[in-house]
Amino acid sequence: MERRDIRGLLIDLDGVLYVGNQPIEGAQEALEALAEKGIACRFITNTTTRTAGELVEKLRKFGFTVKPEEVFSAVTATADFLRSQSRNGNLPSVHLIVRESVLPEFEAFPKDGDHPDFVVVGDIGAAWSYPLLNRAFQQLMNGAELVAMHKNRFFQGDEGLLLDIGAFVAGLEFVTGHEARIIGKPSPDFFRLGIESLGLPPENVAIIGDDIESDIGGGQAAGLTGILVKTGKYRPKHVEESDVTPEVVIESIGELPGVL
Ligand SMILES: [Mg+2]
Repeated sequence: MERRDIRGLLIDLDGVLYVGNQPIEGAQEALEALAEKGIACRFITNTTTRTAGELVEKLRKFGFTVKPEEVFSAVTATADFLRSQSRNGNLPSVHLIVRESVLPEFEAFPKDGDHPDFVVVGDIGAAWSYPLLNRAFQQLMNGAELVAMHKNRFFQGDEGLLLDIGAFVAGLEFVTGHEARIIGKPSPDFFRLGIESLGLPPENVAIIGDDIESDIGGGQAAGLTGILVKTGKYRPKHVEESDVTPEVVIESIGELPGVL
């Protein structure tokens, strides 16, 4: 690759530092080696099943040293976006299709089951159903705007690939004829949060992730160097079929200190 002077990193969590409840071998040592090299790290995640605070807790249990202000979560970014949509000091009303665990992040927003300003979609696992989708469809047809925490196609579970919320977001877009606002990766706004926190120009920052589209494609569009790992949801086939070409491909984050 064309050698860039990488001084900061955005690190995807799921599939890079851990899969399910298993940390990736060598990840902790890699983070320590990066710190010794003076490479600053921020963590950027589309995970919407936990609050940012719970994610930090999970990372600490795995032995990673991470400060809350270093984690950029699609859940927090969604709440920030909704707050930015306040009118005359009034928060917008929402209908939340999210995991119970992240409800505290949206406590302040008025809930409206009929005519909400926004329908907000996060990961709810196996709870999707026709009534739930149909209700969202009707709210959207009544003028609500669809906000998706992300539009990922699938993720790696303990026993293989699992359907992600992109399927339902795309379905709602199709039936309503309106595109959702996507908050997490690959949104350039979301990458910008991490880049600004590093205080570095994008050409000195790399993204490391296991999703060729959201992580690598999104990061490259934000001006970053893309480093793809072969852990998590990585499959050779998806890379071959993608228009995105990562600058670097490594077996796992364990190899990262050696290529920077
Ligand atoms: Mg990932």
